[in-house]
Amino acid sequence: MSAPSTAAAHRGLRRFRAPAPPPPERCELCGIELAGRHRHLVDTRNRGLACACPPCALLFEQAGAAGGQFRTVPDRFLSDPDHRLDDVVWDRLRIPVGVAFLLDNTTLGRAVALYPSPAGATESELEPSAWQAVHDATRLAGLLAPDVEALLLRRTEDRIECHLIPVDLAYELTGRLRMLWRGFDGGAEARAALADFFADVARRAREPHEEARRP
Ligand SMILES: [Zn+2]
Ligand SMILES: [Zn+2]
Repeated sequence: MSAPSTAAAHRGLRRFRAPAPPPPERCELCGIELAGRHRHLVDTRNRGLACACPPCALLFEQAGAAGGQFRTVPDRFLSDPDHRLDDVVWDRLRIPVGVAFLLDNTTLGRAVALYPSPAGATESELEPSAWQAVHDATRLAGLLAPDVEALLLRRTEDRIECHLIPVDLAYELTGRLRMLWRGFDGGAEARAALADFFADVARRAREPHEEARRP
């Protein structure tokens, strides 16, 4: 649970400090060496990501359900082709660019939007009514696990896409886009990175009814 005073102190726009996982690939809980792709835990106290080996990820998947500092990032991808997100809802989020991640951040006690911009990766707190509008428009918002999953929204000329993805991938893409982003539309390189990312998400995503209900 977050202290309201902390949330108040953090209110508003700020530069996002990406909790990028450190390069040495060792499990940060037991120290074992990690081979290639691995899972991550969110450190809710320090707002960071920790690399984890499969047994540690599993351990904290179970422990995380009861709350605690470390929470394992799930590896599910969901899409909602029937969402009712439209320009009215989008405008209420006050995101100046065409792509954003929405997270339910329990440390801040607020939902936040994370997006690339000409000024670097930016995080802004969402008005509760704007977050409610997202809830009303897509069932993915109700399925979103706080701190460890993100809603990925993209507005193109003719539609809005809405997916639910693991938060470590959201941070990873934000970090990559920070290096590439130019102007308000991102420029060619950022658009290419986004196209790759969305193709990968679309390939992995299922619809919510294919997903077993969480306990
Ligand atoms: Zn471990
Ligand atoms: Zn890692």
